[in-house]
Amino acid sequence: MKLNDIKVSNPYLRLDSEFYDKVKPDPLFAPHLIHANQDVAEKLNIDKDELSSDTFVQWLNGEYHPQGTESFSMCYAGHQFGHFVPRLGDGRAINIGKLSGFELQLKGAGITEYSRHGDGRAVLRSSIREYLMSEAMHSLKIPTTLCLGLIGSEHKVRRESIETAAMVCRVSSSWVRFGTFEYFAAGGMFTELKSLANYVIDESFPHIKGKNDPYTLLFNEVMVITCRLMAQWMSVGFNHGVMNTDNMSIAGLTIDYGPFAFLDDFRHENVCNHTDTQGRYSFTNQPSIAKWNLQSLMKALSPLASMEKMEKILALYDKVYIRYLHYYMCKKLGLEGTVEEDPAIIEDMFDMLETLHVDYTLFMRTLSHYEGDRTALLATGMYHEPMNAWLDRYDVRIQYIDKVERKKQMLCNNPKYVLKNYMLQEAIDAAIEGDFSIVHDLFTIAQAPFDEHPAFERWSEATPKAFKNQKLSCSS
Ligand code: AMP
Ligand code: MG
Repeated sequence: MKLNDIKVSNPYLRLDSEFYDKVKPDPLFAPHLIHANQDVAEKLNIDKDELSSDTFVQWLNGEYHPQGTESFSMCYAGHQFGHFVPRLGDGRAINIGKLSGFELQLKGAGITEYSRHGDGRAVLRSSIREYLMSEAMHSLKIPTTLCLGLIGSEHKVRRESIETAAMVCRVSSSWVRFGTFEYFAAGGMFTELKSLANYVIDESFPHIKGKNDPYTLLFNEVMVITCRLMAQWMSVGFNHGVMNTDNMSIAGLTIDYGPFAFLDDFRHENVCNHTDTQGRYSFTNQPSIAKWNLQSLMKALSPLASMEKMEKILALYDKVYIRYLHYYMCKKLGLEGTVEEDPAIIEDMFDMLETLHVDYTLFMRTLSHYEGDRTALLATGMYHEPMNAWLDRYDVRIQYIDKVERKKQMLCNNPKYVLKNYMLQEAIDAAIEGDFSIVHDLFTIAQAPFDEHPAFERWSEATPKAFKNQKLSCSS
């Protein structure tokens, strides 16, 4: 499809006006395309050659309006660090229409009714992080929002220093958050709450439409997909950093990329968000925080569904989560079938990696090549004994598993590359100087993290010591 032929729809605007603020994007000064995502364009049925056109940049800059465009920001509430904020909303994200089943949204498109004291903008560094990381998560087979494109500009914005503004065009099957439900529940707007639940069922869970007790089923669906998402984050070593209920997708997607991090050395207590002084959103807390967030969602849904039934559903959370975690970890360890000892092998491996300060991604990838010679594996840790002891158990567990098959399975479940923060920072530092080549390089490995990429070998090594386990600020 040519950009001129695009026709977007706006189903969200059929909801009550309480749900949104109709607002037009405020374009950036002197925009330029940094990167366009051809795969996402394909999902949206947009011709690839359109991505190099001026119209494409204008569209991503909120200046070109395809047929049907009626832009708006979404209203929601949320628990931020455990405290309820009754009205948040998209302070800088503006939806520009639904196309081929995906809601398009410009992040950093200017002030909205929900901007509070913010300037409605996003800086280049945070836009690069979101653009690359959403693609990386997608390629790791983890549910996530995506980005169609990234533009930079000469538009100045003030953070700790003066920076330039940028925008990503984000793409998702749904932008509804747990906090969207909380907004209407806390405001006593139960008619709107019901409309929202019906909207979400239509958009994200059409298979439960028309069933008996649909809102209890909705809660059950969200519980299960949230468990699965947490298990995927934990198995790959992803720390989100700001798991407020307004950053929890009702569709079980990874959303709102901020001060996230991939683990460098394996550390249960890893905290990547500089403002998270209590470690509420530490790596190890993620599954229990997601459960806490589901509890908030459950309360918000209580005018529509039986609390007793939802509590029974939530009581299954720990079991469902652990099942998913073991499922993903067994795939990563190349373990076939289920053996009673597998959970202990998994948990003890995590503890061993932590004790030895081992780079998680490097270890798992090296283990994928393991055929008995331990030299490369032992070199990833500070000393040998705990790793040898763990490998002795692993050897016993894999002795009857076909070596070739195991390796094949492990190599497509243990990425050679994840986008660690020091790599993203390298791309950002160069981009600020006008060199976007590292953004392009990181995009290449983000898209194919299980491939070898000999040219980028250094990024598969352990994180250099000076850059390990750094915390990032929320300012973006
Ligand atoms: P986040 O934790 O990044 O998801 O943001 C929390 C809330 O602050 C959301 O409602 C955002 O829309 C809003 N926000 C963040 N940065 C800005 C900004 N620069 N201008 C306006 N609103 C913002
Ligand atoms: Mg957010």
